Amino acid sequence: MDSKKRCWATGKVIYTQPEAAQRAIERINSNPPDGQRKMRAYYECEHCGRLHLTTMPQKKHHIMVDIKQKKKSFMQERLDDLVEKRLEYLDKKVKTKWNTGR
Ligand SMILES: [Zn+2]
Repeated sequence: MDSKKRCWATGKVIYTQPEAAQRAIERINSNPPDGQRKMRAYYECEHCGRLHLTTMPQKKHHIMVDIKQKKKSFMQERLDDLVEKRLEYLDKKVKTKWNTGR
């Protein structure tokens, strides 16, 4: 019944052209199926890089992505910090050993 391509990550229908996504939004909004919320916007998927429809306003989705990215970079910074401290510690240890060895 549905021959449209779907995203491997989100399971959402893939649109390759913004115009096609916009047309789909207008079609759904003008005649929403029973119990289905209106599709308000399309966005670029972070998983497949194509376009999907969303019930969320576009701005909100961008904020969500922004928070996700911030979280990610925060984790990376923490990791870098830990690695650096560990290297410093090992460096000190080696130097101490070297000094006391003489
Ligand atoms: Zn996708």
